[in-house]
Parts: sequence; C-alpha cells; structure tokens
Amino acid sequence: MLELHCHTTFSDGTLTPRQLVERAVTKGVKALAITDHDTIFGWNEARAAAQPYGLEIVPGIELSTVYNERSMHILGFYPDPKKLEMPLNERIQGRHRRAKKMVDKLAELGFPIELPPMPGNMAPGRPHVAKALLAAGHVTSQQEAFQRFIGDHGPAYVPYEKFTAQEGIALLRQCGAVPIWAHPYLFRGGVVEEVLPELVKAGLMGVEVYHPQHSISEERVLEELCEQYGLLMTGGSDYHGPQPKPKAGDIDLNGLKLSLELLDDVKQAAANLSR
Ligand code: AMP
Ligand code: FE
Ligand code: FE
Ligand code: ZN
Repeated sequence: MLELHCHTTFSDGTLTPRQLVERAVTKGVKALAITDHDTIFGWNEARAAAQPYGLEIVPGIELSTVYNERSMHILGFYPDPKKLEMPLNERIQGRHRRAKKMVDKLAELGFPIELPPMPGNMAPGRPHVAKALLAAGHVTSQQEAFQRFIGDHGPAYVPYEKFTAQEGIALLRQCGAVPIWAHPYLFRGGVVEEVLPELVKAGLMGVEVYHPQHSISEERVLEELCEQYGLLMTGGSDYHGPQPKPKAGDIDLNGLKLSLELLDDVKQAAANLSR
C-alpha cells in the first residue's frame, strides 16, 4: 500500500521520521513519501529506519507557494537534494522569519508566547505557533488558535514570503522533481477548473487526487481533469501524527489504501525529467 503525503518533526508533524516509519510499517505501508513543508532533512533518518523493514522511502517535499495571494501547496517527488539545498535554505529561513513575525504580532495584541528552540534545518509553521498559544494558556485548543489568531484572515496571520506557484513548479522541475498540486480543494484562491490549466502551463505534472479532505465527487472531478490534461494522479493521508484533538476528516497512515501502481508513473516521470 502507498502513502504519498506525510509530515515529520522536521516540519509540523508530531512524529520523528523514525517513529513515522515504524507506524507506517505497522499500518501496512509498502512505500512511504516524506513530504515535509519546505524541508528535506527528514529523509535520511527515515531511510535508515525503513531499511531493516524493506519499506521504500519516496523522497519528497511540500513546497509552500502563493497563488492569487493565497497559500498553495505543491508536492515534489524525487528532487535532487544537492540542487534543492540552496533555494530551500532560503525558504526555511523565510519560515523562521515568518514565525518570529507572528510571535511579534501576538505580543502586540497582548498574547505573548515563546516558541521552542527550532534548529535551522527544521521548517516552523503555524501549528508551532498554535501549540505555543496553547502552552501559554491563551487558547484551549490549537483549533481555537487558528480561529482567533492565525487563520488566513486572523490578526496575527503572516503570509509566506513571496514565492509564486509558478516559481515553485519551475524550481522543482529544475531539481528533477515531479511537481504535483497538493489537495486542490483546500485551495482558497480560485476555482480548481480555472486554476489547473494555468498550473499546467507553468509545468505542473500531476494532481493529488486522493486526500482525506476531498469528497468522493471531488475526487471524480479531479480524475477526469487528470485524464483531460494528461496528468499524474497521487494521494496520501497528509498525516501529521496522532492528534490530541483530531479534526473532522483526519485519517491514519494508509487510511486511503492506495495502490502501489500509482507510484510507477511518478517514478517514470521523475526518470524522464532527470535525463
Ligand atoms: P503554514 O504552512 O505554516 O501556513 O501552516 C499550514 C499548516 O497548518 C497546514 O499544513 C496544517 O497542518 C495546519 N493548519 C492549517 N489550517 C489549520 C486549522 N484551521 N486548524 C488546524 N491546523 C491547521
Ligand atoms: Fe502541515
Ligand atoms: Fe498541504
Ligand atoms: Zn501536508
């Protein structure tokens, strides 16, 4: 079984790569992608942990970009880590600056928080800010932190530093990675049918069709669009680790029971890119 969308403690997941691998093995996963937000530093630990189990690790990333002034996530599979290192460093530093700006805004609003020490190769995100708000007693759940402060229109929200989806797609391709639009129906800056052709023009190669927050009818629409534009289809549980208060629609690793066959075309596409 295939799992192509997961986060670790290197971004906003709660399991270390090793813990994630162990859980994936228990859940029957045969190929597991590590797709942290803007960092690839979880791969090595995952690979080392997976090796004795014969679990295949698919190297990946989930790039944070902006499209129509809204957050858009682009997954990339099989990037050349050397080529990606410099540009990613800039993205990760941007995330550290952004987290600090959110802390400053919260302090101005009268809600001081302290973020835990975060190493330079780790990509901080809003969930870390939400946890700190909870730890400081300003909110009673992470969900409340998003609702009151750091949701997309919240008073302490800070957008990603400018990096367009087109730039993200181009960067991934330059690094030999297959660019895939992550969870299109979570995008808030436009209609899927109108946005997709623009992304295809920019070099997008596939769509994350299967995602816990997509309805069955949305998945059918995406399957048809992939057929129409000749795009790859992927999927995954967008796993962030066991949650203290699960959100509606959260599922466990391997919850989608995806066929390993989906991975073959992605691999082929990656091989063609780096030729
Ligand atoms: P960032 O990339 O730093 O803007 O953080 C985005 C991440 O925050 C997503 O990948 C989710 O893990 C999480 N997230 C976004 N919106 C919410 C929400 N309303 N409640 C809880 N978690 C959320
Ligand atoms: Fe996340
Ligand atoms: Fe995402
Ligand atoms: Zn994700």
